[in-house]
Amino acid sequence: MIPNDYFNKLVRNAAYCTKCNTEVESKHRHDFVMCKCGEIFVDGGLSYVRYGFVDDKTFINRAEYRQPTIEELKYEIAKANNDLAYGLYSKDHTTAVKQKAQELLKDLYGI
Ligand SMILES: [Zn+2]
Repeated sequence: MIPNDYFNKLVRNAAYCTKCNTEVESKHRHDFVMCKCGEIFVDGGLSYVRYGFVDDKTFINRAEYRQPTIEELKYEIAKANNDLAYGLYSKDHTTAVKQKAQELLKDLYGI
């Protein structure tokens, strides 16, 4: 089962520390940013979300995502078709990814 947010794109990698009331944001892959008091950090920029905290009660995740565009979903379908044709990855997984991209095209854009 492919989750509904599978194709969502990270647009902001940030978190807020409630101990020192500071927001931290990682802007690129190797941008490791810690809050003023050292309780929390974020890392990874828009490549991946990596974060940590001393106590989860001081950590508020402020990562933001956007829905995929029509072009991105069409690209995923074409890529899945290619992967299926050449047997590059698990057939079940690739078929599920393709179906999810087709569902999202219909649900989000009526295509
Ligand atoms: Zn802090």
